[in-house]
Amino acid sequence: MAKYKIKYNKTKCIGAATCVQLAPDTWKLDDEGLAVMKKSEFTEEELDKQTKAAKSCPAHAIEIYDDQGKKIV
Ligand code: SF4
Repeated sequence: MAKYKIKYNKTKCIGAATCVQLAPDTWKLDDEGLAVMKKSEFTEEELDKQTKAAKSCPAHAIEIYDDQGKKIV
C-alpha cells in the first residue's frame, strides 16, 4: 500500500491551526501555539484529509510527497 510522507517546516508556522482542525490525528499545537506533527506518514485512505490540511496552511509550512518522492502539495 502506498505510503505518503509529510514534511513540515516549523519555522514557517504562524499557528493558524487549520491543520489541527482538519487532521487532528496528525497535528496538534505545542505550548507556544505552533503546530507539532504527530506522525509523518499516512496511507491512501487519508490522502484527501491530509492534502486538505496541507493546502489549508496559510504559511505553506506543510508539504506532502508520494512514495516516489513526487510532491503532491
Ligand atoms: S495550518 Fe500551518 S500555520 Fe497553521 S498551525 Fe498548521 S502548520 Fe502552522
